Amino acid sequence: MMDYTLIRSNRKTIAMQVKDGKLIVRAPIKAAKRDVDAAVAKFEPELEAMLKNNIALIERRAAFSLNYGDTVLYRGKEYPIAARPGGRVCFDDANGEFCVPSNLSPELIKAAVVQLYKMLAGRHLAGRLLHFQPLLGVSVTNFHITNAKGRWGSMSRRKSVSFSWRLILADDDIIDCVVVHELAHIKEFNHSKAFWAEVEKIIPDWREREARLRSLSRKINAENWDVDRKAASMAESVPSADSPSAYRRHFADYKTILSPQNGI
Ligand SMILES: [Zn+2]
Repeated sequence: MMDYTLIRSNRKTIAMQVKDGKLIVRAPIKAAKRDVDAAVAKFEPELEAMLKNNIALIERRAAFSLNYGDTVLYRGKEYPIAARPGGRVCFDDANGEFCVPSNLSPELIKAAVVQLYKMLAGRHLAGRLLHFQPLLGVSVTNFHITNAKGRWGSMSRRKSVSFSWRLILADDDIIDCVVVHELAHIKEFNHSKAFWAEVEKIIPDWREREARLRSLSRKINAENWDVDRKAASMAESVPSADSPSAYRRHFADYKTILSPQNGI
């Protein structure tokens, strides 16, 4: 019999969930223990397989760390992380390198890389919004780069668009697909046939691109990109070619460019 954590509550059915390397079973308050055991036994092979996958994922995430010389994805291609003694955090276009100062801990390297990703995502996505807005005949009122893990982008009813910095890891044509998807929500605030027709006008092969986005999602989920607060604030204090204040200034510029008052 598999080990499990039993949570009884005011519910009518038995439900099973694999989470954090454990099997959790939810059952009605009065359910007999033998009935709960029988329900678990019935799905034992499937549950064992799910648990094994979950534990493997937790181990892969725990083993994930970034060091000098490792490569990271940016717009669908791998680039090495290079140490620049006394240097700044920047993306070196000429050499194709993620440059971070030398002698940083893996945790700080990760924080610096994430900081750089956010900067690069802001720059690239602002450009793609500007490109696609006139093609759809819409415009956003605001634009944010977020830490979202579960979603690549979102559009609010106020036409404020957000993208996860993680999107900048995807191929350019996948990034475009997400940008068009969010912009199409200004026309159709749902996932109706009319919505997909709008997307399809600009991205006829959106299905194939979304399939590739799902496989990127699985890859990123096996990597622990969480940055603790302390490392994030230390990374912000690392000198950067685009300092956080310069980044915010860029951002303010994008917002001005993107605002409808400017006729776009
Ligand atoms: Zn959507």
